[in-house]
Amino acid sequence: MLETRDLHKTYQAGDAKVDALRGVSLKILPGEIVAITGPSGCGKSTLLHILGALDTPTSGQAYVDGLPLHSMNDDALTGLRQLKIGFVFQFFHLLPTLTVEENVLLPLLLSGRADATGKTRAHDLLESVGLSDRRLHRPHQLSGGQMQRAALARALVHRPSVLLADEPTGNLDSASSAAVVDLLTSLARREKTTVVLVTHSVDVAAAADRRIGLVDGRIHS
Ligand code: ADP
Repeated sequence: MLETRDLHKTYQAGDAKVDALRGVSLKILPGEIVAITGPSGCGKSTLLHILGALDTPTSGQAYVDGLPLHSMNDDALTGLRQLKIGFVFQFFHLLPTLTVEENVLLPLLLSGRADATGKTRAHDLLESVGLSDRRLHRPHQLSGGQMQRAALARALVHRPSVLLADEPTGNLDSASSAAVVDLLTSLARREKTTVVLVTHSVDVAAAADRRIGLVDGRIHS
């Protein structure tokens, strides 16, 4: 489902060069739930952003569902993101002026699929994450855990093949964190979605099928 070969990413910040990834090769199977762990600055987010077609590698190859991200143009990458990838972020990134339901529908609106079937799908997911009774609320009326559950519904509404989560529990207390991880893993298994999640938390990493440890831009374990 996901593969990288000798992936390198070098950032240029003024005169300084930062080698964020230094030859990462990995394979992630369809339906697998994989946690990427490692100290701050080791390249976890950079790897996730490349896998999610939000950033491009300096060299090496990255494939999603057999599609070569490293040789696709911006339009093709945008199309791939809209169809195949769902994102969950540490700070939720819900749009404050939209209701919970409108936020969840957003990926379908962007790809012209917010029809009756899409709305039923959004309602089903809101029920799965326990937010049916909050669908007309705005994000600021929700707790952190509820916001992340809404963000999870939004990430899955368009049936992506891959769910990418960057510190999905980094801004939650331990009870909300456990609830979000339970929902994320159970929904991903139900929908047969491949998951890559970046986390500092040992408990969150333990919920994955496999852990990949990065140190200094390389796979360490
Ligand atoms: P992690 O997610 O493991 O904390 P990152 O992937 O965010 O690590 O960053 C890896 C390295 O790349 C760090 O040294 C970071 O400072 C650097 N870096 C990340 N993004 C940029 C950028 N846009 N410009 C310059 N350096 C960056």
